Amino acid sequence: MRIKNRLEPYAAQLVAVSKFRPLAQLQEAIDAGQLHLGENRVQEMVEKQAALPSTVCWHQIGTLQRNKAKYIAPFVHLVHSVESIALLQELDKQAAKAGRRIPYLLQMHIAQEETKQGLDRTGLETLLQDPLLPTLQHVELRGLMGMATQTEDAAQITAEFTGLRVLFDELQQAGYPMHTLSMGMSNDWELALEAGSTMVRVGSALFS
Ligand SMILES: *Cc1c(COP(=O)(O)O)cnc(C)c1O
Repeated sequence: MRIKNRLEPYAAQLVAVSKFRPLAQLQEAIDAGQLHLGENRVQEMVEKQAALPSTVCWHQIGTLQRNKAKYIAPFVHLVHSVESIALLQELDKQAAKAGRRIPYLLQMHIAQEETKQGLDRTGLETLLQDPLLPTLQHVELRGLMGMATQTEDAAQITAEFTGLRVLFDELQQAGYPMHTLSMGMSNDWELALEAGSTMVRVGSALFS
């Protein structure tokens, strides 16, 4: 697999984004040893999780509505898309019920498009300084996630990814547990790796 080979020198992890793909395609990926799968809709993830081996590590990559956190809390491997303390409170509550800790990434807004989700610097600081945060014992900060602008301009994409890597390093220096930097999709995963990504989320380039 070309992408897998390219990832090796970077020690980066591949999340195969399997949203909208039928179970048979997911099973093929699993049979080929690809156990990290990403979905962006709760109901779809829940249905696929029930139908596939329990060895799969499920990544929530899309916006997670608070009232749906309970459905994935018992099994989700990593939530990439946290951008509010309110969602963290709910995830914490549901993780406690399920008797586990849920690892999560904070999603940063790095693209120029208004539509892309994520926190800006002020939002990040506010969240990290929220007095509630240290009281949430069943969620665990692991790093950051970001999506670059959809553009042909490689220099711009690289600048956005590099900016996120710099922030990741700054937070690490400041003592935050920064282990995973989730950036890179089908169209820009190579630029993301060059900029210091540790986890790429690739869908269409893998499944077709
Ligand atoms: C769909 C999606 C991906 C994968 O996109 P491709 O372009 O198919 O690789 C990655 N990350 C997020 C957040 C997505 O929603």
